[in-house]
Amino acid sequence: MKLIFATNNDDKIIEVKALLNKKFEIQSLKDINCFDEIVENKKTIEGNAILKAEYVHEKFKVDCFADDTGLEVESLDGLPGVMSKRFSGLDYSAEKNINKLLSMMKLFPNRKAKFKTVIALILNDELSVFTGICEGEIVFTKKGSKGFGYDPIFKPIGHEFTFAEMDMEMKNTIGHRAKAMNKLIEFLSKK
Ligand code: IMP
Repeated sequence: MKLIFATNNDDKIIEVKALLNKKFEIQSLKDINCFDEIVENKKTIEGNAILKAEYVHEKFKVDCFADDTGLEVESLDGLPGVMSKRFSGLDYSAEKNINKLLSMMKLFPNRKAKFKTVIALILNDELSVFTGICEGEIVFTKKGSKGFGYDPIFKPIGHEFTFAEMDMEMKNTIGHRAKAMNKLIEFLSKK
C-alpha cells in the first residue's frame, strides 16, 4: 500500500520506516516532487497535522498522512507547544530552541513536560486522527547526541536517559511519534 508521508524531514522518514512493515511503501514529499512550503498557521498541533494532510491530498490526489509534534512544558503553560520548531525565532535551530527553553525554565522547579504527536491520515477521502503522548521531564543540561530537536533535554518518565542518549529502537518503543504511528498502523492493518 503506497502512502505519502507529508514531510521532508529525513529523520522522521527513517523513524517511521523502522516502525512500519514492508506492507506499506512510504514516500516523502520529495518523492512526489512536492517542494511547496506548507504554511503551518493553525493554533493547535492537531490543526497543523490536518492542514498538511489536506493540502497534499487536495493537490496531489493521493492517500497520505501528516504529523505534527510539540513539546509541552507544564510550568510554561504548554509552551513551546505548537511553536516548538521556531521557538527561538525565524533564525531558529535546535540548539537555540533548547537554550531558550532552558533559560526560561531556570526559575521553575517543576520540570514536567510531554511530547505530543498528532497524525492526520486521509485514506479513501476520509480523515482519521491519531494521538501519541510521551510524558517526561526537562533536564538541566543537554545530554546525548542521538535523535534531533529537543531530544538532548527530554527524559521520558521512568527512564534514566534522555532521548538523545537512547538508541532509536528504544525511542521507537516509548516515544510519542511511535505511539501515534502504532495507532495508525493498527488502523491500517484492519483495512
Ligand atoms: P514537527 O511538527 O513534527 O516538525 O515538530 C516540531 C518541532 O518539535 C521540531 O522542529 C522539533 O524541534 C520538535 N520535535 C518534534 N519531534 C521531536 C522528537 O521526537 N524529539 C525532539 N524534538 C522533536
